[in-house]
Amino acid sequence: MNRRPPKWVEEDNNHASSVMEGVAMHAQTTAYTPSIKRRKEMSLDEIYEGVLAAESTKLARAITLVESNATRHYEQAQELIQRLLPYTGKSLRVGISGVPGAGKSTLIEALGYNLCERGLKVAVLAVDPSSSITKGSLLGDKTRMEKLTTHPNSFIRPSPSAGMLGGVTRKSRETILLCEAAGFDVVLVETVGVGQNEVTVRSMVDFFLLVLITGAGDDLQGMKKGVMEICDAILVNKADGKNKIKAETARVDYNQILHYLRPATPGWKTQAHTGSALKHEGINEIWNVIKKFEEMTKASGVFDARRREQTLEWVRTMVNEQLTQRFYENARIKHEIPYIERAVIDEKMTPTKAAEHLLDVFDQVTRQA
Ligand code: GDP
Repeated sequence: MNRRPPKWVEEDNNHASSVMEGVAMHAQTTAYTPSIKRRKEMSLDEIYEGVLAAESTKLARAITLVESNATRHYEQAQELIQRLLPYTGKSLRVGISGVPGAGKSTLIEALGYNLCERGLKVAVLAVDPSSSITKGSLLGDKTRMEKLTTHPNSFIRPSPSAGMLGGVTRKSRETILLCEAAGFDVVLVETVGVGQNEVTVRSMVDFFLLVLITGAGDDLQGMKKGVMEICDAILVNKADGKNKIKAETARVDYNQILHYLRPATPGWKTQAHTGSALKHEGINEIWNVIKKFEEMTKASGVFDARRREQTLEWVRTMVNEQLTQRFYENARIKHEIPYIERAVIDEKMTPTKAAEHLLDVFDQVTRQA
């Protein structure tokens, strides 16, 4: 297949995010042309009704509000989510992670299309908190999901960019809620397996699938134990052609390691499976694993307990983030920091004393305010 690099277009002046032209085609993540500025501003009521009526343009508009870095949009988005909250929570949230080239898009295309054909509504969200560091998302190229993109039961959204007001994590979590209010049955959250991404996505999904391939440097030796400890299943992908035997051996080896690790979800045995996203082999089996997981964890109460814990964790994370942001944006702190850091480097002040001093200054400022 002839692969074109994605063409990114700026959303508009208020939004830090860019979207891909191809994606706007069906899923209508809104065609972000400059004409958007001239478009009549939708009222919050219109967006609210539209999301509940599962209108994809209104859903896209709602997500745009959530992703915006403008304070006014942030406030509107919060009001919207507050109103939509009673209609959220009913989807199955599935995280899919793997190194670039592991076959995530191919898998999502195959699995997503299958599910859509069965009458389920499938939303695909990309989450890439590291993109703000690596400049440019590794998940951008959604033109790969050509069939899924055009299915009327699908909705595909690329990763938001970080910016202020809570960053990628808040935006992605709130986007999941919006998709749920719009009646999506399954939310597939795709992320690139680098750095902290997996942990971030794990904290927002019910089931976490790790997609691996043989010979990609993430074989047994290089494989991070930490990632294996947070996943609910491993798919050794590309188990086709000459690679089939190697993939099968890898599956057995992974299962051996998994046997000694604490499972990510209490009462559930994480196992490795083989499959070929390209040849549509083992894809239904993975879905059956996910459904079995849902059934078991719902029956045991683990499903709801994890959701509750994730929500509380979200609150705590937001407090941490916002406190940090307020601290570093404070004028007095900004003024003090260079002097204090100098003193630490020159060994005139211990790091502990330096931190204490800055926090004391912040305390004083906030008390005066
Ligand atoms: P992503 O970066 O993880 O989203 O990976 P892609 O889905 O874009 O796949 C990367 C490459 O691997 C593409 O050329 C796919 O056609 C190919 N690929 C994906 N899944 C399979 C598979 O099951 N078998 C084989 N042989 N190739 C695959």
